[in-house]
Amino acid sequence: MNLSDALKNREFSIPEPPKKKKKIGRWILLAIILFWVGNSFISSDAFDEEPPIVEIEDMDYWNLREPIALKISDNIAIKSYKILIDNGTGEREVFKEETFEDRVVKELEFNITAPIKKYKSTYTTIFVEVEDNSIMNWLSGNRVEIENIITVDKERPKISILANSYGIRKAGSAVAIFDVEDVNLDEVYIETQSGRRFYPQPFYNAGGKKTNYISLVAWPIEDERFSANIVARDKAGNFSTQYLNYYLKGKTYKISEMHLKESFLTGKIQSLASQHEQSSFVDNPAEHFRIVNEDIRKENEDVIRAFTSVVHKDRVITDFDIVPFIPLKGYRSVASFGDLRKYYFEGELVSESRHMGLDLASIRMAPVISSNRGQVVDISTKGIYGLSPIVDHDLGLYSIYSHCSSTRVNEGEIIERGTIVANTGKSGLAFGDHLHFGLYVQSIPVRPEEWMDSDWIRVNITDVIASAKQIIERQ
Ligand SMILES: [Zn+2]
Repeated sequence: MNLSDALKNREFSIPEPPKKKKKIGRWILLAIILFWVGNSFISSDAFDEEPPIVEIEDMDYWNLREPIALKISDNIAIKSYKILIDNGTGEREVFKEETFEDRVVKELEFNITAPIKKYKSTYTTIFVEVEDNSIMNWLSGNRVEIENIITVDKERPKISILANSYGIRKAGSAVAIFDVEDVNLDEVYIETQSGRRFYPQPFYNAGGKKTNYISLVAWPIEDERFSANIVARDKAGNFSTQYLNYYLKGKTYKISEMHLKESFLTGKIQSLASQHEQSSFVDNPAEHFRIVNEDIRKENEDVIRAFTSVVHKDRVITDFDIVPFIPLKGYRSVASFGDLRKYYFEGELVSESRHMGLDLASIRMAPVISSNRGQVVDISTKGIYGLSPIVDHDLGLYSIYSHCSSTRVNEGEIIERGTIVANTGKSGLAFGDHLHFGLYVQSIPVRPEEWMDSDWIRVNITDVIASAKQIIERQ
């Protein structure tokens, strides 16, 4: 007689002992143990007190398509297990059960699949029962039972586009307004072919079965092509995508060659480079310039990216009445957005960088105006960008005003249209008093020229929003 047979027969030899007869029970147990010991058949493993372990994939929702991973294990041996699934009618159907007679099984893995195709219920229960080979607990072994109630959701989210900008230009911006219907919706975003994600905010009357969403999107300047899909995913892993059909307008950005002179590389470059520990081992002035123009620039742009990537995903947008940004009165443009600047020293290319803003100049220390309301999220000095307040205009649109001489607002302050945020200057890597004006859509630098043009704003943003509102109101 082996151990499992002995355990299997226990029901006949030992009736469930009532509490009073506990002592007799113990004597019988001892007798059996002695019998086993005599037969050299028992080890200390038989007294194992550790129950089996059931590990089931942590999920509250199931789309019935992907199987659910389950693992059962025991430190000594599994005696038997049973897996039952609610078949959608409230009854439990056996998925698998087994009793191990004469082999030691310590670990089993399963992929639980849905019991039937036409599943009607909105929830299911997975029941797992495992017993180990221990003789503890009156020979019945250690036993574990778990019951998992899971919501069943087979429906994919439904996405409908309500309105979007007609086109998008390379390094430009666009808007998309759409609704998504799903009772267990988990996440919604717009993803470009290069993997960039833009997150929408709830739009207008965001109640009821469907949620309306609005998102700005940007075509990053470093991406040669652009295509974007709305992606909606629910808690059960069902997802849908919807292609956003924008007319694509290419744009070539200027490449300029700059020849550095030795005198230029001393002074400001050296003092900026000295803020970087890497440069203390370098005495080549061209390398100092490269550190400032590439390494320090990257660090500074990472800081700007962090501030401008915040989207208020739960804040409902009822209106987005943006007006053209005119940050300086009577300005003249001194450098355009998107230029690729190649720097040469003594005939050799030493560094390159892209100009991610628009340079504007007027009088020295001119007042810098935020033409749109928003919240000041940062007023710090950012390396080559110098003193640079950043304003959050909602929907992931941010404006930044660089090389300032002083700021006139506080961090966290909500500012109205026309607020003077700073005064121009030449802080950071600037060689004359000017304003470097940058606009970001969810951390992507975009062409400020678009957002400075009232016709562009009307056609591409505000008219699109107005037409989406009309569609929603008619629904
Ligand atoms: Zn600039």
